[in-house]
Amino acid sequence: MSVSGTVHLVGAGPGDPELLTRRAHRLITEADAIVHDYLVGPDILALGRPDAERIFVGKKGGGFCCPQREIEAVLIRLARAGKQVVRLKGGDPFVFGRGGEEAEALVAAGIPFEIVPGVTSALAAAAYAGIPLTHRSHSSAVVFLTGHEDPAKPDAAIHWESYGRLGATICLYMGMKNLETITRRLQAGGMDADTPAAVIQAATTDQHRQLVSTVSQIALESEHAGFGAPAIVVIGPVAALSERLAWFTEAAAAPLAACGALPAGLPS
Ligand code: SAH
Repeated sequence: MSVSGTVHLVGAGPGDPELLTRRAHRLITEADAIVHDYLVGPDILALGRPDAERIFVGKKGGGFCCPQREIEAVLIRLARAGKQVVRLKGGDPFVFGRGGEEAEALVAAGIPFEIVPGVTSALAAAAYAGIPLTHRSHSSAVVFLTGHEDPAKPDAAIHWESYGRLGATICLYMGMKNLETITRRLQAGGMDADTPAAVIQAATTDQHRQLVSTVSQIALESEHAGFGAPAIVVIGPVAALSERLAWFTEAAAAPLAACGALPAGLPS
């Protein structure tokens, strides 16, 4: 009887290898196979054993797309071959990372697995931009939303107008393409046009850029300034604190290529 390997669903964090957890680091260095997508930069992949199999499974909108079912089949095949598999995902595997679907597929196939959390990009982007997501004087709640869904779809799951009156800090993942519509709908729901908003691109890497504006202006200003994916948009009064608390500059970035290696035209 052959013994199955284990699949480790590992969060690689936002880009800087120093933000890997110790467990993620150890599993990457020991893996027989590393299955990764576009958000994981070369500095992190280089930590793997020279003889480890590295399999790029891309991501929808990243110019190359490996269907989710195929990714799951690759993980199952490698584990059944007895390999220790690291499925490496940007940020955290359970935050907009489809880690849930992969875990379900592994359970169905009877493959042992573990989940290793990572620093999700909203937390990293906010920290590096000097934006406390909660603050006793400004915000007592945080929501993570995906802007990937087409907000013009009549049956869209996210009712943006409701979030316009929630009073929570909003962290928007994959929101650049639809930012104009999203911010308009938040205002239609009651959000003040002057509510501070920030966009943070390629957070924690040497490509890190940020811009602070207001919910009514952020879409236009970030477009003019050439911002694109991968970026997090933080909306709420706390975003204004960046003007005083921003501490990270490109010069402070470790010389790493993490997100710098991204191909053009990635999903926003
Ligand atoms: N599982 C990931 C999210 C994957 S969805 C996580 O927990 O972070 C992809 C989106 O994540 C991107 O479109 C962008 O919104 C965000 N993202 C990932 N890395 C980022 C980075 N270094 N800086 C800013 N945003 C990032």
